[in-house]
Parts: sequence; C-alpha cells; structure tokens
Amino acid sequence: SLSRNGRGAEALDLLADFPAIPGGWAYLDTAATAQKPQAVIDAIARAYDTTYATVHRGVYQRSADMTLAYEAARKRVARFIGAASADEIVFVRGATEGINLVAESWGGSQLKAGDRILLSTLEHHSNIVPWQLLRDRTGIEIDVAPLTGDGRIDLDAAEAMLTERHKLVALAHVSNVLGSVLDAKRAAAMAHRVGAKLLLDGCQAVPRMAVDVAEIGCDFYVFSAHKLYGPTGFGVLWARGEILDAMPPWQGGGAMIDRATFERTTYMPAPARFEAGTPHIVGALGLHAAIDYVEAIGLDAIHAHESALVRMTRERLGAINSVRLFGPDDSAGIVSFAIEGVHPHDVGTILDEERVAIRAGHHCAQPLMDALGVPATARASFGVYNSAADVDALARGIERVTRIFG
Ligand code: PMP
Repeated sequence: SLSRNGRGAEALDLLADFPAIPGGWAYLDTAATAQKPQAVIDAIARAYDTTYATVHRGVYQRSADMTLAYEAARKRVARFIGAASADEIVFVRGATEGINLVAESWGGSQLKAGDRILLSTLEHHSNIVPWQLLRDRTGIEIDVAPLTGDGRIDLDAAEAMLTERHKLVALAHVSNVLGSVLDAKRAAAMAHRVGAKLLLDGCQAVPRMAVDVAEIGCDFYVFSAHKLYGPTGFGVLWARGEILDAMPPWQGGGAMIDRATFERTTYMPAPARFEAGTPHIVGALGLHAAIDYVEAIGLDAIHAHESALVRMTRERLGAINSVRLFGPDDSAGIVSFAIEGVHPHDVGTILDEERVAIRAGHHCAQPLMDALGVPATARASFGVYNSAADVDALARGIERVTRIFG
C-alpha cells in the first residue's frame, strides 16, 4: 500500500510483510543483504515441506514438476531483466560467482597478454579480484577509471582511456558504498565503440530500479538474489546469447555434459553447460517469489521511495557540523558518511544501542576507501520496509554520537 510520508513523496508502507524486522528496529543495512518478505519465506518453506525433489533427472512426476518450477524461475528472471531468452540466464551462487565465471570462462578463452580491461575506482572487490587472478594467468592489463568529485564513475575520463586494446569494461551499475548510479547506456556505447564488451555488476541496481539489459545494451549482467529480498547462495549471470554459446565450461560435473567417456566428453548447450552439479533448486524458487514481490510493488515506486529516504537522510545528516557525506545527492538508496573524530565502528556500535543497524567498514571496496582518504565509512542503506521514522532514528542516534564524542 502507498501512503504519504509527509514530504510530498510517495512512501511505501510494507514493514508488516517482513517478520524478521521487530517494531522499533531501524534496519539500514539492505545493501549488505535485504530482509525477506513473508511471500519469499512461504515459497521457500513450501518448496521444502510440500513439493521438494531434484530437477532435470527424475523420471517421476514430482521431479518433473520441480523441474518445471525451476525453469519457470529462469523464465521469470529473463523477463525481469529484459533478456531475449531464458537460455541466456545462468544460475550461480551470487554476483561473486557470476563475475568469476565470466573472468575464467570468457576471459580465460578470449583474452591474451597485452589485452586491456577497464574497471573503476569504486568497484566491489568481487569486480576487482577475479580480474587480477585472470591477469596473473594471462598477462592482461587492468586500467582503472577515476571518479568525479561527487562520487560517480567519470565516464569522460573513462572514454578517454579506452583504446582498441580494451576488450572489456566492467562497472558497478550502482555503487554499494556511494549509491551513485552509472549512465549504463553511455557506458555500453563507449565500450562498443572500441570493440569492448560491457559487464555490469547489478547487485545494488536490481533491488532499487527497473533494469532492462536490452535497453542498456550491455553484454554481461550479474546480481545476487539475497539483496533482492530473495535467498542467500543464489544469483544470476546474464550474458548475450552468442557470447554465452561461445564460452567454454568452467566447472565440470553432473548435469553439464552431453556425453561423457574417459576419452572425450561433450557438453550441454548454455545455460546447462555452466551449471555443474545439483543446483540450489529452492534458491531459484525463492528468487522467483522475490521478483514477483518487487514487481508487484513496482521498481519505479521502490526507486522513488528510497530516493526520498536518501534525500531526507542527506538533509538531516548534512545539517550536523561534524558529518561528512559521501556520494552524489541523487544516490540510489545508499548513504555513506563519516563523523569527524569518530571511527565508523564506534558510530555503528552506538547506533546499535539505539536499535539502528548500519554497516561500518570498507564495504569490500578498499581502493575506493583509499580514494576517499578514509579507512572506512558508516553506511545507511534502504529497502522497501524503511520509513521516515528510520531516518529519524538514525539522525537522533548520530546526534547522540556527536554528544558522546563532544
Ligand atoms: N557487487 C556489489 C556492488 C555488491 O554490493 C556486492 C555485495 N556486497 C557484491 C558485488 C557481491 O555480492 P555477493 O557477495 O552476494 O556475491
């Protein structure tokens, strides 16, 4: 249901859908992981207590039904992000595994010494380290696009850095630290102009804005289910069909072979080729329910709701002298800040006493911390269940922090 939050913005009122958020607890760590709505919990429970069986192998009806449900989730994901076909959707353990898969399979087969890839200063370690591992194996070189003063990836600078030697640009669609939103269409056009592919890390984008990979024109897209109100241990790699079809397997095992002998093994087409072993069956069903949940609310409504909460937060915290805000004013659902003379961990601990849960640390983005010149930040991040009351609780808690540290 929609209600007014008193500031002219439409506000969502969905807290009652989330049984693990007790009254009076301001959960402001959705960028780390989202709480689960009852509909997702029910879908997962029903899969285990009523319809459970393996997929793709069973000759009995229960398994055939579960296979249909598992593959229905793949179709649902394809529709959710605008993929041309469900065959372009590879189920993985999460964004981390998705990027490692691309680095190993696509990178390992397509890139050679002297090729370059372009990342940015604000990337999560999961979009840095897999490329370094690939660099160590292949001799590719990694370039890093800088940020603008307000914490966006500087696409003018990135464009000037790109050359014909660049084969891949890999960027966060939304920063998990600063909430800055990438102009993804421009990034795709820039990459393609030099013949490079564009990979987007969509972890923080899919929970807070409508994403259409066809409209963006990117080549790879990854996200984790658990940040989208779904289960942990599950995620999605999307790649354009012709790219995926040309990629070799990266893990071997059951379910990915066409015919196996000791002399020679042939492989299934994508996506099965990339899904060795018994998959996280129930994870797929949970993600399906999570997508149904967010689409029933509407991604545009979620974006407007979180943007309003961000504006309120930046206004309230910006009015406190000792607070330094990071990132742009129009960041998507995420606000990083520091308080002069107070370590972010102390901020987090005092806020916890006030029943406000934030994240304090480097957010798996140490190169970004270096660029900001801080060891860590405090970060408040929003979800569909948050309200102006949570912003109030955060601001009151921070006022208390500044009193304690005088
Ligand atoms: N990229 C971004 C932008 C993230 O926020 C995260 C999670 N913090 C990841 C990648 C990695 O996701 P996961 O740990 O679920 O694989």
